[in-house]
Amino acid sequence: MSANCQIVSCIKESERTVGKERISEALKKENLEVSVDKRVSKVKLCKDHYRLIKKHVKKADKIERLRWKV
Ligand SMILES: [Zn+2]
Repeated sequence: MSANCQIVSCIKESERTVGKERISEALKKENLEVSVDKRVSKVKLCKDHYRLIKKHVKKADKIERLRWKV
């Protein structure tokens, strides 16, 4: 079962699934939109978009990880 990247106008195959809330800021910064229903909380991304988004969420990720360790 394969699905396409859910960034608007992207037709590449998705590789990763990420939380929509978690990447919303990154999407804004990159001027991207996702084509998913409002109720959907997960977004599928292709490799390229995942990499792009990851740049922005890296910082937040670290903070989360630190919190979990405690
Ligand atoms: Zn994509």
